[in-house]
Amino acid sequence: MREGIVGTPGRTPSSDLPGHRPDAATGDERFGQVIDSARDAFIETDGSGSVTEWNGRAQELFGWSAEEVLDRSVLDFLIPPRFTAKFLADMERVSAPSLARSTPARERLLLDRQGQEIRVNLSAYLSGSGPDFRIGAFLQDLTRERAAEEALAHAYLHDSLTGLPNRTLFTYRLAYALARGRGKLGSVAVLVLDLDRFKAINDALGHEIGDEVLVSVAGRLVDADGTAEIIARLGGDEFLVLFDGDGAEADAVAFAGRALEALSAPIVAGTSEVFITASIGIALTSTTVREATPLLSNADAAMYQAKARGGGTTEVFGEAMRVTVLDRLTTEHSLHRALERSELRLFYQPVVEISVGRAIAVEALIRWDHPEQGLVVPNRFIPVAEETGLIIPIGAWVLAEACEQLKAWEDIDARGLGTAVAVNLSARQIDHPDLVDTVAQILARTGLAPANLTLEITESALMNDAAGALGVLRALKDLGVSLAIDDFGTGYSSLSYLQRFPLDILKVDKTFVDELGLNPEGSEIVTAVINLAHALGLQVIAEGVETEVQLEELQRLGCDFAQGYLFSRPVPAADLLANFPLPVTS
Ligand code: C2E
Ligand code: MG
Ligand code: MG
Repeated sequence: MREGIVGTPGRTPSSDLPGHRPDAATGDERFGQVIDSARDAFIETDGSGSVTEWNGRAQELFGWSAEEVLDRSVLDFLIPPRFTAKFLADMERVSAPSLARSTPARERLLLDRQGQEIRVNLSAYLSGSGPDFRIGAFLQDLTRERAAEEALAHAYLHDSLTGLPNRTLFTYRLAYALARGRGKLGSVAVLVLDLDRFKAINDALGHEIGDEVLVSVAGRLVDADGTAEIIARLGGDEFLVLFDGDGAEADAVAFAGRALEALSAPIVAGTSEVFITASIGIALTSTTVREATPLLSNADAAMYQAKARGGGTTEVFGEAMRVTVLDRLTTEHSLHRALERSELRLFYQPVVEISVGRAIAVEALIRWDHPEQGLVVPNRFIPVAEETGLIIPIGAWVLAEACEQLKAWEDIDARGLGTAVAVNLSARQIDHPDLVDTVAQILARTGLAPANLTLEITESALMNDAAGALGVLRALKDLGVSLAIDDFGTGYSSLSYLQRFPLDILKVDKTFVDELGLNPEGSEIVTAVINLAHALGLQVIAEGVETEVQLEELQRLGCDFAQGYLFSRPVPAADLLANFPLPVTS
C-alpha cells in the first residue's frame, strides 16, 4: 500500500534496487561491525593459523588487543603447546575440500594473556576457497559462564547470611539419605537446633548484632562438627543437621553435646557480649517413620520439649512424644473445649522410697486425650494454657481430680501406693490471688487430709518472683500441705530464698540423674544437691531414674526417694492399682 510507494526515510535508495550487490568494501565493513558487536568472541585466521580478525570480545576474553595479535600465529600465544599437533590436524581437516563448511561447537582450552587456560565453546567455519581460505571461529567463555552458573546454584542452595546450606539443599540431601537407608532402623538422624530467646537479643541489640550472632553460631556449629552430613540454616535462628549411616543417633547426640558446649562461651558482637543457649531436638528413622516430613516434625517436637524444659538442652524424640506437633492456634482453640468435653486425664507415677523400695506417694501428671491427636503430653499444651490463662481452671480441675482419686484409694486400700499425691502448679497459678482459697476449698470438699497433698513448683517459677512467691508458699504451708521444688538445678536458685521458702522436698532434675554412674564427675552435682537439701532440712526425690546403676548410685549418695521409668511410667489410676505394690527393688 502506501509504504510500497513511499520510501523509508534515511535509507539509501540504491541499495534497494534489484540486482544491486554491495561492493566488497561495504560488505567487509558490515561484517566487521557485526563481529564487533557479537556477543561471542570472534577470531579468524588464514590457512597458516595467522590471525586476520580479532573482535572486542576476544580482547576481553584473552587480554590481547587486535593490534597485538593480527598476523601472529595462534600457535604462538593462543593454543596450549600440548594441543599443537591436534590444532594442526584440525586445520588440515577444516580446509579439506570434502568437509562441511562449518563444524559443530566443541569445548576447547585456550590461553589468555597471563597464560591461564580458559575453557571455551568453539564453533568454526570455513570461508573463502582456494589458497585464500579463512577459518572463522566463534567462542563462548565457559569458564566464567560456569562460574556464574555455579554462583547461581550456590545462591539457590545456600543461606546468604551464614553461607551454610539452606533448607532446599538440606531437603535434597535428606531425601538421598532416606532413599539409601530405606527400611534400616535409625539409619538417619535429624537434629533441629533453635536458639533460646533469640528474639530478645534481636529486639534489645538490633538486627545487625542479631545477624552477627547468627554468623558466629553458624561458625561454631561447623567447628563443633565431626560427623554431620550437612549443617544447614533454615532461616531465623533455626539450624538443621543431618547424620546418615550406622551410629547416626550416637553421632547426633555427640554433636548436640559439642554444639551446646561450643555455644556456651559468650559471643562478641559489635560492642556487646552475648550469652546464648540453644534447644536441640533429635529424631531418628524407624519402621514407622521413613519419610522426611514426619522425621522433621518429630525432631521439632523434641526440640519444643527441650524448650519447655527451659532450653539449653537436648531431647531425643521418643515414645512419650509420639504426638504430632500441635499447631499452636488449634491448641488454643480446642483447649478451651477440652475441659468442658472432659478430654483431660490424670496419669500417676509412683514415688519410691529408696531404702525400702516401695511407693510412698504418686505424682499426678496431666494428659490431654485429644479427639484427633490421641494422648498429648503436657509440654505440648501447658505452655499455651499458661499464656492464655486457661491454666487457672485446668489447674483447679487437676487439683480436685487428684485429691478425689487419692481419697478414693485411701477409702479402699492404698495397696502400697503410699498416701500422698503430688500436683504440679504453674507460675501463673502461684501468681493468681485465688490459689490458696482454691486449694483450701478442694481439700475441704474432697475430705483429703492436707498432709497428703504435695504441691510441686518448678525452681524457675519460684525464682521468677521469689519475693511474691514467698508469701503464697507460707499461706499454702499454713493449710498443712507439703511443698516441693521441682526440676531443681535447671534454674538459678538464690540460696537465701531457698532457705526462707517453707519447702519440704527438693526434686533433682533428670538431667543430673542422667549423669549418674557414667563417670565419677557425674555424681558430683547430685551429691552437692543432696547435701544442700539435707542441710536445709529437705528430703530429696531424684527424677527420671531409668537404670539400676542410677538407683544404686542414688542409694549410695543417701538420696531419699526416686521416681522414674525404672519403677513405672506415668499410667492411668486403674493401671497403677493393677501393678502395685511394686516388688522390692533394693
Ligand atoms: P515434672 O513435674 O518434672 O514431671 C516429670 C516428667 O518427667 C513427666 O513428664 C514424667 O512423665 C517424666 N518422667 C518421669 N520419669 C521419667 C523417666 O524415667 N524418664 C523420662 N525420660 N521421663 C520421665 P510429663 O508427664 O510429660 O510432664 C512434663 C511436665 O509437665 C512436668 O514435669 C510438669 O512440669 C508439667 N505438668 C504435668 N502435669 C501438670 C499439671 O497438672 N499442671 C501443671 N501446671 N504442669 C504439669
Ligand atoms: Mg513435677
Ligand atoms: Mg521435674
